[in-house]
Amino acid sequence: MNDLKNLIREVADFPKPGINFYDITTLLKDRSGLKLTLDALKERYKGSQIDTVIGIEARGFFFAPAVAYALGAGFVPVRKKGKLPHQTTCVEYALEYGTDKLEIHTDAIQAGERVLILDDVLATGGTAKAVADMVAQLGGNLVGLSFVIELDFLKGRDKLAGHDVFSLLHY
Ligand code: AMP
Repeated sequence: MNDLKNLIREVADFPKPGINFYDITTLLKDRSGLKLTLDALKERYKGSQIDTVIGIEARGFFFAPAVAYALGAGFVPVRKKGKLPHQTTCVEYALEYGTDKLEIHTDAIQAGERVLILDDVLATGGTAKAVADMVAQLGGNLVGLSFVIELDFLKGRDKLAGHDVFSLLHY
């Protein structure tokens, strides 16, 4: 699995000085890397009776629908504020500077539904925690949160205490 790291491009100082950006477009482009990634995520959850995989805008959308398809589950997008057309549930979360808002269609998750949250990178965990709160608010049963990459040194996992957290690759 660690061979996948060779397919992830690290870009220094993007989007701003001091950030080492993990670019997964090079992984997505590689046919065996893409297959390995999606197969590993599917394997991890195949017995978990997932009803719905939530992908977080934007890079979560690269993975979540494919994993949903592989699991025989549905896909639900969580989007930046103002993008979803129907009634939404919104959560505000802290960024390094200021706050941001994410939305989900209120009717997209039914009470008791078995939900998996999927994103490309777990960094500080603020985004994933906000989406976990959203699922709880809608009465969903959050089975786990999954990431292609986890930046261990940022301790995002601590924000998600009490949940099952799985990442394919650790930095
Ligand atoms: P956070 O809320 O801090 O866990 O940030 C998570 C979101 O920011 C993820 O959706 C990632 O797409 C993105 N992100 C944060 N840090 C990085 C990084 N170093 N490289 C690539 N994406 C990142």
